[in-house]
Amino acid sequence: MPQHILEDRELSIATGSDLTSEGKTIKCGQNSVSGSVSQRACVYCGARVVLNPITDAFHLVHGPIGCASYTWDIRGSLSSDSELFRQSFSTDLKEKDVIFGGVVKLKQAVDEIMARFNPPVVFIYSTCLVGVIGDDVDSVCRESERRYGARFINVKAPGFAGHKALGYKLACEALFELIKPFRDNPKVKGINILGDYNLAGEIWIIKNYFKEVGLKVLSVFTGDSSYESLIKAPTASLNVVQCAGSMTYLAKMMEESFNIPYVKASFFGLEDTASALMKTVDLLGDSKARQKAKSLVEREGRKTHEAVEKYLPLLKGKKAAIFVGGGFKAVSLVRQFKALGLETVLVGTQTGSAEDYELLGELAGPSAVILDDANPAELETFMRQKGADILVGGVKERPLAYKLGVAFCDHNHERKAPLAGFAGVENFAREITLSINSPVWALARASSFLD
Ligand code: SF4
Repeated sequence: MPQHILEDRELSIATGSDLTSEGKTIKCGQNSVSGSVSQRACVYCGARVVLNPITDAFHLVHGPIGCASYTWDIRGSLSSDSELFRQSFSTDLKEKDVIFGGVVKLKQAVDEIMARFNPPVVFIYSTCLVGVIGDDVDSVCRESERRYGARFINVKAPGFAGHKALGYKLACEALFELIKPFRDNPKVKGINILGDYNLAGEIWIIKNYFKEVGLKVLSVFTGDSSYESLIKAPTASLNVVQCAGSMTYLAKMMEESFNIPYVKASFFGLEDTASALMKTVDLLGDSKARQKAKSLVEREGRKTHEAVEKYLPLLKGKKAAIFVGGGFKAVSLVRQFKALGLETVLVGTQTGSAEDYELLGELAGPSAVILDDANPAELETFMRQKGADILVGGVKERPLAYKLGVAFCDHNHERKAPLAGFAGVENFAREITLSINSPVWALARASSFLD
């Protein structure tokens, strides 16, 4: 291992051949190694990522003001209606509240929220400090529900309780609590989409595909969703899970309690988008929808091939590095790079599973470096070693790429152009072509103090 790698991290780093022909497994799904500057977010952030796109919900952070710095601005999911979710609210706990408790402040906040905004649902995020002082937020929620008739859900998410993936689970539990009272409503023909957060309006693109095919989308968890749309979810006949890392837990709960089967499907890349649409119609056994989906896939596939053709000579032989949240997206990205003629030389995730990494090893090839819960030093070391031309990641990876003079593509919350669906394939090809071929990287490398 290169000298910058901590000894305790060695088992979380492998090559494609380790995971395929050598039969090794990668250490993953564990708490971050102490002393390693993990790229992961905390438990509260994981929960907020999933719940924040509910547009008419009130998101109240019960904790010190710092936790409330997580706002819509770093997660640009779009809304077709309410804009309430774009604001950030906090009980702003201070030293005095640590000593005497924060419940009085929380109750005052609830009264103010109901007087001024009267939302149908309030998520109260109990962050690290509340986990330490032990405010009885559950009883405030019960009392507030009796008093105001709206839903109050305590998201017990102290950041120190684990890592981002636990936050996903807590968000799934909160969503399940929200929709559970509607479990006995009669079933209708339609689907729910789980794990799409309507970044850059992507859910509108996907919904249009299903509209053309003749399938009704009842609820989306949680992009561009509202309380009224979410409570229809228990009546659906199929759950389509797009971000498997954050939403498989909810899909399993809904399968067990509401008898709704689920299918994992990715809308990133030509191959995966086509397969997601066909899988969905096949599972519903609707022959008319199948015929329409087939025509849509053929038509859009043809158009997309024509649109990306001009980028291929500019991308041929380039090397890509990927570091994203979940394994499912990483798999789609490796496939997309392959289709565009790039080699994936490094791929890692914050919360991937052993099966995800095995598949990534197979797809990326024997010499690709595979990492779970990487830190910036590791990303830098292997990107340099492998000569990556572009890094695909999120807000935390962006400065690293810029400092190294390597092209960057944001495939996370800050993306401004939709990267999902057939339209997303063209946008992605254009974005990486422009970034990789920009003259700025050579200048950045020439003046970098890192070399
Ligand atoms: S780690 Fe704790 S204090 Fe920091 S943002 Fe997360 S919940 Fe708040």
